[in-house]
Amino acid sequence: MGTEQVFHMNGGEGDTSYANNSSHQFNFKQRNGVLKGKPILEEIIRKVYCTINPKCLKVADLGCASGPNALMMVNDIINIVESTSFNFNRKPPSFQFYMNDLPSNDFNTIFKSLAQFYETLEEKKGPRFGPCFINATPGTFYKRLFPDNSIHFFHSTYSVHWLSQPPEELTNGAEAYNMDNIYLTSTNPPETYKAYLRQFQHDFKLFLKSRSEELVPGGAIFLTFVGRKNTPEIRTVFGLLGMSLNDMVLENLIEGAKLEFFNMPLYSPTAEEAKAVIEEEGSFTIQRLESMMLGWDANINEDELDENSRCEFIAKTFRAITETLLKARFGEDIMDELYLRLKNKLIQMLMKGEKLESPNLVISLVKKSYKDANGNGATQVL
Ligand code: SAH
Repeated sequence: MGTEQVFHMNGGEGDTSYANNSSHQFNFKQRNGVLKGKPILEEIIRKVYCTINPKCLKVADLGCASGPNALMMVNDIINIVESTSFNFNRKPPSFQFYMNDLPSNDFNTIFKSLAQFYETLEEKKGPRFGPCFINATPGTFYKRLFPDNSIHFFHSTYSVHWLSQPPEELTNGAEAYNMDNIYLTSTNPPETYKAYLRQFQHDFKLFLKSRSEELVPGGAIFLTFVGRKNTPEIRTVFGLLGMSLNDMVLENLIEGAKLEFFNMPLYSPTAEEAKAVIEEEGSFTIQRLESMMLGWDANINEDELDENSRCEFIAKTFRAITETLLKARFGEDIMDELYLRLKNKLIQMLMKGEKLESPNLVISLVKKSYKDANGNGATQVL
């Protein structure tokens, strides 16, 4: 079965759901006043709104998942546009939001929360507020999702580090073979890293090309995803998950063959790697590209919580994100044990004084208005 069929965040609103375990991502967006992410979003939305001035602003969120984060971006964008309209004494536009994710995403949890969402919006905004329509667009963002020239703004947080598939070179026993790891670690052969990078370059280029065809001239993209420091040392939660799986193989709790060719369909690029793909693809001008460190447990107050609670929190966040993929491969029975082991590995890291954090890339891009014969674009002067 392909990634597209099995991969989705844990649905519903239960204890292991994404809805109840996504406050890391939520927090990044909430606190991004501090982390400089929100000003970048505000700047790019204002630019799009002021240059295009549409009657109906069409925005798509790519990789929306389900739960509170999904509709938070709708709120954020409406607020930014509303305050801009107020400052320029313009009538605010109406809004059309398209919530995109893979078809197996739990869209129903979003749909169920819409009535309440619309009601609160009307109460808060009053009659001056233009209507807001929310639709769903299931499908992979590595293909076209919308007609030509139809979207003003794309928003995507914590989604584009997911690849369309793990690199094929890792699964056919070739040089890049990743043996008992499930993602890049500091000890991988260089070929493993190269295979992952090639897959990211291929996918990210397709992503940018598709979006450039769908955006109107002057349209823009805001992206946040997990990045990597430009150092040989690679420390990720996926490395710890791989070690936990490996321990379980050694204890005969998992068949070794199942782990051998399993690799996460994920890549966290350095800022330089992401920039190189954007420049090579050529459809966009980079407005901002920044890297900001964020703790894996960033939303909990470290002073108040002990190591066990902090690591439990991180393990639950990553369970909501990775469980569907790992369950499909290793079976449901070992899931509780696996994430307990992950928590214990996290505690060991903390005890050694290691930092549990990763860089987050925040990128804003504006579509160039045309490409010359060499494929180089130019930004439309408006
Ligand atoms: N934007 C949300 C959710 C991030 S989780 C937030 O910031 O909290 C990442 C989401 O990306 C998941 O729901 C996953 O299903 C989705 N995703 C991954 N690859 C995708 C693809 N190729 N096309 C569409 N959605 C994808």
